Amino acid sequence: MNIFENRFVDLLPADISTGNKNRQVHNALHSAVLPSPVSAPITLIWSPDLADGCGFNASFCSSPEFAEVFSGNKQIPGMRPYASRYGGHQFGHWAGQLGDGRVINLGEIRCQDGGLLALQLKGAGPTPYSRGADGRAVLRSSIREFLCSEAMHHLGVPTTRALSLVLSGDAVVRDMFYDGNPEKEPGAIVCRVAPSFLRFGHFQLCAARGEADLLRQLLDFTISNYFPHLMAERFADCSREEIYSRWFDEVCRLTADMVVQWFRVGFVHGVMNTDNMSVLGLTIDYGPYGWVDNFDPDWTPNTTDAESRRYGYGRQADIAQWNLWQLANAILVVTKDAAALEKSLKDCSDYYGTQRREMLSAKLGLRNFEAEAGDEILLDDLNELLQAQEIDMTLFYRVLADFNLAGSGPQLPQLIEPALYHPERVDTETVARLNHWGERYSERLRVDRVQNEARKAQMNAVNPLYVLRNYLAQESIDKAYEGDYGLLHELYEVLRRPYTEQPGFSRYAAKRPEWARNKPGSSSLSCSS
Ligand code: AMP
Ligand code: MG
Repeated sequence: MNIFENRFVDLLPADISTGNKNRQVHNALHSAVLPSPVSAPITLIWSPDLADGCGFNASFCSSPEFAEVFSGNKQIPGMRPYASRYGGHQFGHWAGQLGDGRVINLGEIRCQDGGLLALQLKGAGPTPYSRGADGRAVLRSSIREFLCSEAMHHLGVPTTRALSLVLSGDAVVRDMFYDGNPEKEPGAIVCRVAPSFLRFGHFQLCAARGEADLLRQLLDFTISNYFPHLMAERFADCSREEIYSRWFDEVCRLTADMVVQWFRVGFVHGVMNTDNMSVLGLTIDYGPYGWVDNFDPDWTPNTTDAESRRYGYGRQADIAQWNLWQLANAILVVTKDAAALEKSLKDCSDYYGTQRREMLSAKLGLRNFEAEAGDEILLDDLNELLQAQEIDMTLFYRVLADFNLAGSGPQLPQLIEPALYHPERVDTETVARLNHWGERYSERLRVDRVQNEARKAQMNAVNPLYVLRNYLAQESIDKAYEGDYGLLHELYEVLRRPYTEQPGFSRYAAKRPEWARNKPGSSSLSCSS
């Protein structure tokens, strides 16, 4: 039985050339290309629940055949491998044609829930879009991608997922710090999974090249397959252009939702270029991402961005909005209705503000954000305290769940001590400020009339205990480079239940140790991958 479908290939125009030779591709959205074989594929880890959803049982996942298929050495009948064409703005500048330079799409699989999921291999060899690069990925970046996509999924953040991580058996040469010291590293391939990998850049490149018909075709394809509700009868009187504008409005909301969730868990994407933005509002392209330890809106994990901090933690909503403007400019080529797109952008910014306030209120255990109750100031003051005192964001919210309204528990300064990076710096003035905030917090909680235990449960459901702290990812990478994959498996298991305290695994819920504060890989990442 053929379990694969290939809508992207079947319904959208193909490049007339084949093979992986570098080229500019015009009036087409994909190029047929096969993965380049690898010498000795070994599956290191796979996601059991995702495999199950795809209909792959454990014996297949642990078989040599699985490693062959998900390294690209062998195709399952029905797969029609291709690389897609897209463009994008990188660090604010238009970069022209980019495309799947090291990703090869395999097709879509009908899942047990009836939906279709697209599968793609990252690191499967050169494509027409590789621009002279090798099309490969190293083990360290593949571990980071595998762990983080799955961690984000289990945190409830919209994301592409990772089915498997396969060691290729071949070395890949990288200059990790761009300092003229290239080294051989183990190569690996991750199988990524999502309903679609369509990016802002797919639409942008059609517009930039004046391919208006192709752009319409892509919009129709996207809307009918992924936003079918926009084709419902109630929109029957809408023109095609109006439907495109409505679609854009939805992409705005999905993007805003995603960024709110990033903020909730402390995730920093690191390279929010428009080619790395999904039109489904999924977190995509795990490169030099990071997680904030001490709450710092200015923090960026990406060394390439260290100067300008364009993609820092607290700037992500503004950058998402900037990226949405670029998508709007692309669609404008066919809708010609700037007012509708501008309205969506304005509404989106209001929507983001509302969602963010609600999310922050939920993190504090409040029922809702109440402007009249002074919540704005409560949130702003907390923001300032967290920054000024170098407080670990993840741990802060978990210990705050134990705040006792009856006043019988420890006072706020004692309660949050485990989350402080510099407890020795807490002077009497800080104690007074913390206590003052604590008093206002308890007054506010009293308004809600929620019992301590109920509030704690609610807070712990939105405030994770285990996140993929950068140094934890790096420790599992260091071990893997010694040939020991135990830590990778252990960390992965813990991250599958991020909100539930797991006895025996407290080390994964600890503050960042001092040695990791400035260590490359643990505090900063280059784009080399
Ligand atoms: P990224 O910065 O990972 O979003 O990648 C930007 C562009 O460079 C995309 O078109 C990638 O496919 C391409 N790219 C990145 N690394 C490689 C590589 N090793 N080989 C080929 N293409 C690559
Ligand atoms: Mg990318």
